[in-house]
Amino acid sequence: MTLNTLNDLYLHCLMDVYDAEGQIIEALPKMIEAANSPDLKEAFEEHLEQTTEQKTRLEEIINALETKPKEVKCKGMKGVIEEGQEILKMGGDPDVLDAALIGAAQKIEHYEIASYGTLETFAELLGEDDALEIISEIKDQEVETDEKLTELAQSSVNDDALETEDDEDLDDDQKEK
Ligand code: FE
Ligand code: FE
Repeated sequence: MTLNTLNDLYLHCLMDVYDAEGQIIEALPKMIEAANSPDLKEAFEEHLEQTTEQKTRLEEIINALETKPKEVKCKGMKGVIEEGQEILKMGGDPDVLDAALIGAAQKIEHYEIASYGTLETFAELLGEDDALEIISEIKDQEVETDEKLTELAQSSVNDDALETEDDEDLDDDQKEK
Protein backbone atom coordinates (compact mmCIF):
# COMPACT_ATOMS: atom_id res chain seq x y z
CA MET A 1 0.00 0.00 0.00
CA THR A 2 1.45 3.33 -1.05
CA LEU A 3 0.75 6.30 1.16
CA ASN A 4 -0.18 8.96 -1.37
CA THR A 5 -2.92 10.69 0.56
CA LEU A 6 -3.84 11.34 4.17
CA ASN A 7 -6.73 9.01 3.51
CA ASP A 8 -4.27 6.19 2.67
CA LEU A 9 -2.46 6.87 5.93
CA TYR A 10 -5.73 6.99 7.87
CA LEU A 11 -6.71 3.60 6.50
CA HIS A 12 -3.26 2.18 7.26
CA CYS A 13 -3.48 3.40 10.86
CA LEU A 14 -6.98 1.97 11.22
CA MET A 15 -5.76 -1.43 10.02
CA ASP A 16 -2.77 -1.22 12.34
CA VAL A 17 -4.86 -0.57 15.45
CA TYR A 18 -7.40 -3.17 14.31
CA ASP A 19 -4.62 -5.74 14.29
CA ALA A 20 -3.38 -4.48 17.65
CA GLU A 21 -6.82 -4.96 19.21
CA GLY A 22 -6.88 -8.51 17.85
CA GLN A 23 -3.54 -9.22 19.51
CA ILE A 24 -4.81 -7.81 22.81
CA ILE A 25 -7.88 -10.07 22.64
CA GLU A 26 -5.49 -13.01 22.41
CA ALA A 27 -3.21 -11.77 25.18
CA LEU A 28 -5.79 -10.75 27.82
CA PRO A 29 -7.03 -14.26 28.72
CA LYS A 30 -3.44 -15.18 29.64
CA MET A 31 -3.16 -12.02 31.72
CA ILE A 32 -6.46 -12.79 33.46
CA GLU A 33 -5.17 -16.26 34.29
CA ALA A 34 -1.85 -14.91 35.53
CA ALA A 35 -3.35 -12.21 37.76
CA ASN A 36 -3.38 -12.97 41.46
CA SER A 37 -5.46 -10.04 42.73
CA PRO A 38 -9.20 -10.61 42.16
CA ASP A 39 -9.61 -6.88 41.44
CA LEU A 40 -6.93 -7.03 38.76
CA LYS A 41 -8.50 -10.13 37.24
CA GLU A 42 -11.83 -8.32 37.13
CA ALA A 43 -10.30 -5.23 35.53
CA PHE A 44 -8.72 -7.37 32.80
CA GLU A 45 -11.97 -9.30 32.27
CA GLU A 46 -13.89 -6.08 31.87
CA HIS A 47 -11.33 -4.73 29.43
CA LEU A 48 -11.40 -7.93 27.39
CA GLU A 49 -15.11 -7.37 26.88
CA GLN A 50 -14.47 -3.75 25.91
CA THR A 51 -11.66 -4.73 23.58
CA THR A 52 -13.82 -7.25 21.73
CA GLU A 53 -16.39 -4.50 21.24
CA GLN A 54 -13.70 -2.05 20.10
CA LYS A 55 -12.56 -4.48 17.42
CA THR A 56 -16.11 -4.79 16.10
CA ARG A 57 -16.54 -1.02 16.04
CA LEU A 58 -13.27 -0.61 14.12
CA GLU A 59 -14.46 -3.22 11.66
CA GLU A 60 -17.56 -1.09 11.08
CA ILE A 61 -15.43 2.00 10.40
CA ILE A 62 -13.18 0.08 8.00
CA ASN A 63 -16.11 -1.52 6.18
CA ALA A 64 -17.80 1.86 5.75
CA LEU A 65 -14.75 3.11 3.83
CA GLU A 66 -14.91 2.19 0.20
CA THR A 67 -11.27 1.24 -0.13
CA LYS A 68 -10.20 -2.35 0.11
CA PRO A 69 -7.98 -2.49 3.17
CA LYS A 70 -4.72 -4.45 3.17
CA GLU A 71 -3.80 -6.47 6.17
CA VAL A 72 -1.38 -4.69 8.49
CA LYS A 73 0.63 -6.30 11.30
CA CYS A 74 1.11 -4.08 14.32
CA LYS A 75 4.68 -5.00 15.22
CA GLY A 76 4.84 -2.43 17.99
CA MET A 77 1.98 -4.04 19.90
CA LYS A 78 3.48 -7.46 19.26
CA GLY A 79 6.67 -6.30 20.96
CA VAL A 80 4.89 -4.71 23.89
CA ILE A 81 2.81 -7.84 24.50
CA GLU A 82 5.81 -10.17 24.15
CA GLU A 83 7.76 -8.12 26.64
CA GLY A 84 4.96 -8.50 29.19
CA GLN A 85 4.79 -12.24 28.59
CA GLU A 86 8.53 -12.60 29.04
CA ILE A 87 8.37 -10.85 32.40
CA LEU A 88 5.61 -13.22 33.49
CA LYS A 89 7.68 -16.21 32.40
CA MET A 90 10.40 -15.09 34.82
CA GLY A 91 8.03 -16.26 37.57
CA GLY A 92 8.21 -15.28 41.24
CA ASP A 93 6.00 -13.92 43.95
CA PRO A 94 2.34 -13.52 42.85
CA ASP A 95 2.09 -9.98 44.27
CA VAL A 96 5.25 -8.86 42.49
CA LEU A 97 4.02 -10.46 39.28
CA ASP A 98 0.74 -8.54 39.64
CA ALA A 99 2.73 -5.30 39.78
CA ALA A 100 4.55 -6.46 36.63
CA LEU A 101 1.25 -7.29 34.94
CA ILE A 102 -0.10 -3.82 35.64
CA GLY A 103 3.05 -2.26 34.21
CA ALA A 104 2.79 -4.40 31.09
CA ALA A 105 -0.92 -3.65 30.68
CA GLN A 106 -0.32 0.08 31.04
CA LYS A 107 2.25 -0.05 28.24
CA ILE A 108 -0.42 -1.65 26.06
CA GLU A 109 -2.93 1.07 26.99
CA HIS A 110 -0.49 3.88 26.31
CA TYR A 111 0.40 2.44 22.92
CA GLU A 112 -3.31 2.31 22.13
CA ILE A 113 -3.90 5.85 23.37
CA ALA A 114 -1.13 7.08 21.05
CA SER A 115 -2.65 5.22 18.09
CA TYR A 116 -6.17 6.48 18.73
CA GLY A 117 -4.90 10.01 19.28
CA THR A 118 -3.36 10.01 15.81
CA LEU A 119 -6.51 8.48 14.32
CA GLU A 120 -8.66 11.14 15.99
CA THR A 121 -6.60 13.87 14.35
CA PHE A 122 -6.77 12.24 10.92
CA ALA A 123 -10.51 11.52 11.16
CA GLU A 124 -11.12 15.12 12.12
CA LEU A 125 -9.03 16.46 9.22
CA LEU A 126 -10.75 14.14 6.77
CA GLY A 127 -14.22 15.05 7.99
CA GLU A 128 -14.94 11.47 9.04
CA ASP A 129 -17.31 12.60 11.76
CA ASP A 130 -19.05 9.31 12.53
CA ALA A 131 -15.72 7.51 12.74
CA LEU A 132 -14.28 10.30 14.87
CA GLU A 133 -17.01 9.82 17.45
CA ILE A 134 -16.28 6.10 17.71
CA ILE A 135 -12.50 6.59 17.78
CA SER A 136 -12.83 9.14 20.58
CA GLU A 137 -15.07 6.83 22.58
CA ILE A 138 -12.57 3.99 22.22
CA LYS A 139 -9.72 6.29 23.22
CA ASP A 140 -11.66 7.33 26.33
CA GLN A 141 -12.07 3.66 27.26
CA GLU A 142 -8.30 3.15 26.96
CA VAL A 143 -7.64 6.22 29.12
CA GLU A 144 -10.14 5.02 31.73
CA THR A 145 -8.54 1.58 31.76
CA ASP A 146 -5.12 3.11 32.23
CA GLU A 147 -6.40 5.23 35.12
CA LYS A 148 -8.08 2.24 36.71
CA LEU A 149 -4.81 0.29 36.55
CA THR A 150 -2.94 3.17 38.18
CA GLU A 151 -5.55 3.20 40.93
CA LEU A 152 -5.23 -0.56 41.45
CA ALA A 153 -1.45 -0.30 41.60
CA GLN A 154 -1.52 2.56 44.06
CA SER A 155 -4.33 1.28 46.29
CA SER A 156 -3.16 -2.30 46.80
CA VAL A 157 -0.98 -4.12 44.30
CA ASN A 158 2.21 -2.12 44.76
CA ASP A 159 1.93 -2.24 48.56
CA ASP A 160 1.48 -6.01 48.43
CA ALA A 161 4.54 -6.29 46.20
CA LEU A 162 6.52 -4.08 48.55
CA GLU A 163 5.57 -6.21 51.56
CA THR A 164 6.89 -9.24 49.71
CA GLU A 165 10.22 -7.52 49.33
CA ASP A 166 10.26 -6.77 53.05
CA ASP A 167 9.53 -10.41 53.86
CA GLU A 168 12.41 -11.54 51.71
CA ASP A 169 14.75 -9.05 53.33
CA LEU A 170 13.71 -10.53 56.65
CA ASP A 171 14.45 -14.05 55.39
CA ASP A 172 17.87 -12.95 54.21
CA ASP A 173 18.57 -11.35 57.59
CA GLN A 174 17.55 -14.52 59.36
CA LYS A 175 19.77 -16.60 57.09
CA GLU A 176 22.72 -14.38 57.89
CA LYS A 177 22.24 -14.94 61.64
FE1 FE B 1 -8.29 -1.36 22.86
FE1 FE C 1 -6.98 -1.24 25.78
